[in-house]
Formats: sequence, structure tokens, C-alpha cells
Amino acid sequence: MKKMLCLLLLMLGMSVTQAAPLKIASLHPLLSEMARTLGGEQVEVVNLFPQNGDLHAFTPTGRELAAAADARLLLACGKGVEPYLADLRDSVKATTQIIEVGAEVPDVRVPGTHHADPHWWNTPENMKRASRTLLKAMQQAAPEHAAFFATGQARYAADMEQLNRTARLKLSRIPQNARCLVTGHAAMCHFCKAYHFTPIAIQGVARESQGDPATLAALLAELRSRNARCIFTDVNSTPRALQAIADQLGIPTAPLVMDGIYPAAASYRELFLHNLNTICEHLGK
Ligand SMILES: [Zn+2]
Repeated sequence: MKKMLCLLLLMLGMSVTQAAPLKIASLHPLLSEMARTLGGEQVEVVNLFPQNGDLHAFTPTGRELAAAADARLLLACGKGVEPYLADLRDSVKATTQIIEVGAEVPDVRVPGTHHADPHWWNTPENMKRASRTLLKAMQQAAPEHAAFFATGQARYAADMEQLNRTARLKLSRIPQNARCLVTGHAAMCHFCKAYHFTPIAIQGVARESQGDPATLAALLAELRSRNARCIFTDVNSTPRALQAIADQLGIPTAPLVMDGIYPAAASYRELFLHNLNTICEHLGK
């Protein structure tokens, strides 16, 4: 009887250990999805980014930080996307490790500036690289699930490779003289480098830096000389200034999901394919 009781207690203990997933908080929906794909049922992912939030204006509040309180990992994009990260380090528990998931993605400079484009998630190749960074962090935090996480990462990487092949094939049909990607803010430089486009950003890195009216004429001349066929805006906002420029050039505007934030897109795959198809539709004619 005593023996059976011991066995029962041992089994209960085991099931408690098995039932405790690694808790991960995330500051970006795409990182939440990545963590869920790698971790499956062995992770509990808390997405801190609010529905309809603006990536360049968001700062986690006390309420969001409370939701992350007992997380072992707190995922950030890195590369300057979260300017509040240094302060965040002071306000989370010592047991919560902040991981900059994009840290190992090579920088891509915004042409004509000294800064790098922080929107590294806009190529599947970068997502694959970032998933390796995340895998390392997850394996260190929960070594008992290391093999399980590695299987999840391999699946994620294969999915990203397939998306990359699709992109290469579809984009190869866009003629050389149409390979100019005009966007509102400088968010597609990683994409442009990977797939051989020239990026032109009208508004700089973040949306708040509006084009200087004095340079408008020069901008229009450049867009004409580069045979710009479309101005790609962010799906969450089409500033009037961009529409006015498009109207002057007699070209359309079309929305891309550049910040990775789009409640209607269920997954990275869906979001990336939306961008890919929109670009092909407008530049591939
Ligand atoms: Zn952005």
C-alpha cells in the first residue's frame, strides 16, 4: 500500500512537471507566432502587443508588464524597434530574460542615411535566422524540452525556406526597370536587398518623419526617372501626403503589411504572401 502511494505521488509529481510549460511573453505578434511554432504545447505564450497598436508608438504599460511578470523569456524584435528596452530591463524581474530575437540578423542600411532598417522580419530568410536565436534561448530556459523545440524550429525553418523560394520565383518575373520599391516609411530595405529592388522611402524610418515639402519636387522627379509604378503604404495607414504624391504621378497606392502588425492576417505566411502578391500585382505588369 505504502509502495503504491509512493508510486502514485511520483506519478503526480511527474505530471505536474510535464504540465508546466515555458512561459514566454512577446512584444510583437510575429514573435509570439514564432515561439508558439517552436514550442507547441511546451510553451505558454503571452502576446503583449495590443490589437491595432502602432509598432513605432507602442510602449508597454504596467498592465502589459503585469501579464509578463512570471515569464522566463520576454521577446523583443531588437535592432532599435523597442527604444524602451533599457528601461524595461530595470522593470522586469531578474528571472525574466529579455531576448532580442532579431539581434543576429545582419543590418541593412537605409539608403542615404546612417541608420539600419529595423524591419528585419520582412524576409523569410531573416525569420529563419531569428528562429535559431529564439531556439537557443528557449533551449537554455527549458533544457528538458530542447529536442522538442529543435523539431519545431526545423519545421519553422522549412516553412520559411519554402516561402523564400516562392518569393524568388514570383519576383523574378518583375522586369529590371520596375524594380524600385517606393514606400511610405523605410521598412522594406531587408526585402529589397534580398530580392534585388531599390528601396525609396518617402517618410524615413518611422511614420512621424514627414517628407520635407522643399524636397517634394526633387522627389517627384526621382520617382519619375525611376519609373515608379506604385507607392506602397502601410496597411494600417495611408497618409494623405503619400496619396497626393501618387496622384501627381498618376500611379496607384497599395497597402503592404510592413510593421508585421495586421490583425486580419492570421500568420506570417499570410502576411508575407499578401506583400508578395501586392508587389507582383503592381510592379509585374
Ligand atoms: Zn515601421
